[in-house]
Amino acid sequence: MSYKLVDQLAAPGNYGGSRAASQIKYLVFHYTGNDGDKAANNAAYFRNNVVKASAHYFVDDTCVYRSVPDLRVAWAVGGSKYPNAAATGGGTMYGKITNTNSISIEMCDTIRNGVYQASEATLENAAVLGRELMEKYAIPLSNVYRHFDVTGKHCPSYLINARKWAEFKERLEEETVVRYQRLKDIPTAFQPTIKALMDAGILLGDGSDPDGNNDVIDLSHDQVRTLVFVYRGGGFDEKLKAAGLK
Ligand SMILES: [Zn+2]
Repeated sequence: MSYKLVDQLAAPGNYGGSRAASQIKYLVFHYTGNDGDKAANNAAYFRNNVVKASAHYFVDDTCVYRSVPDLRVAWAVGGSKYPNAAATGGGTMYGKITNTNSISIEMCDTIRNGVYQASEATLENAAVLGRELMEKYAIPLSNVYRHFDVTGKHCPSYLINARKWAEFKERLEEETVVRYQRLKDIPTAFQPTIKALMDAGILLGDGSDPDGNNDVIDLSHDQVRTLVFVYRGGGFDEKLKAAGLK
């Protein structure tokens, strides 16, 4: 899935000065707290109203609005610690995470149903954006927090639960991509299919072994699985028949 990125800057009175990329150490997630809103509504609000507050990004099911450039300071996690932080377990990063050293992502609540919750599409878009920013600014997963962790504010309300937050953070983990260089490296259950595709000339390797199937094919595990699904569904039948293999 990929979202559409729209640049629509907030009014200048809503955010602070410049910073270097090297100052960005933390990623902070928020919720907008508006039941049934969209990224465009939020971006328009912060463009049209000076409220001395901001976030870098607003995310919904299809769009990400960039409201403050990464290299400008958003006024998103400042303010004092909530008095009940000690009781709720929030505010543990108070004083460590600041507006200057963090990027803030706000998640919208696209389903208007009287309940504060982000849709699956919004959560996934927020995670994709989060991963991109983590990579761009070398932010480790251990430096990803909630607004709750900074000031104790119940934000995002639906990720205060430790298990829910852990589940969301799993989406931010780097995917380890398993790749197979040659036919013989592929799990045996999948080898006959991949061999048939190579024999039929449907799947071509690097040509280093013209007489056999020891070419470098360099396929990811997901690619192998997809080829097997398509093969089983008959997607290659015509070409296999033409090659006299089916
Ligand atoms: Zn927040």
